[in-house]
Amino acid sequence: MGFVPTMGALHQGHISLIKQAQRESEVVVCSIFVNPTQFNDPKDLAQYPRPIEHDIAMLESVNCDVLFLPEVHEIYETDQKWTIDLGGLDQVLEGEIRPGHYQGVTQVVKILFDIVQPDKAFFGQKDYQQCLVIQKMVALLKLKVHIVVCPTLREADGLAMSSRNVHLSAYERSQSVALFQALKLAHEAFESHSIEEIKILASNYLKASPGIALEYFQICRGDTLEAAVSKEGRLVALVAARLGKTRLIDNMFME
Ligand code: AMP
Repeated sequence: MGFVPTMGALHQGHISLIKQAQRESEVVVCSIFVNPTQFNDPKDLAQYPRPIEHDIAMLESVNCDVLFLPEVHEIYETDQKWTIDLGGLDQVLEGEIRPGHYQGVTQVVKILFDIVQPDKAFFGQKDYQQCLVIQKMVALLKLKVHIVVCPTLREADGLAMSSRNVHLSAYERSQSVALFQALKLAHEAFESHSIEEIKILASNYLKASPGIALEYFQICRGDTLEAAVSKEGRLVALVAARLGKTRLIDNMFME
């Protein structure tokens, strides 16, 4: 059984995970659950898009076997407390800006795994830190599920597909490609420049892009997300920025 957990507002990025799951499993389960415990901003939770009819039609169009669409009270039957030591992975980058976010993510994914009991679960590289956090939880709790990380699907201009992209105004949408451009810039400069120079180059590019409020541009070790101090091993550049009220993240391996 292959499992694709989502928060709905499905797009082709989600569908690519379902197709990958179909290639590797006999039965594919997709869940749609907007998880309240991973939101630290109640407004963000309230405004999260929930086009369920559209989502069902998309899942039907790719013959996804099962949609699991639980209510909040079914997932959180009792007021369980949850804390897991993620070894600091939940304290940096997204975890620093969104305190408690990865505790909420691991909490819901553990509950979903317990209910669905998949052999494999498919996650998008788009949420790179989330992939590491889930892998860490699986290792810590010795869960019998194999985590498959799938590539990021992008719009034609490079913007990573995201359920949040619907909130972008036409102007913000046109500016949003700067995140991908900055990652590409870093990738192209990787051979010839130092890590510090690349960070400055990419950050300056984003700071000079109208409509973009940069939160971070970091180059980290791909396994621990510690700031990279040398070019050894697999490095990943991660970026987060706000466009108006919408917050976008993206990342790219530096190879
Ligand atoms: P979400 O509904 O945003 O929680 O995402 C559900 C799953 O889809 C997560 O594993 C995401 O990483 C993945 N995902 C989101 N956007 C993309 C994308 N553009 N390409 C591939 N996977 C994605």
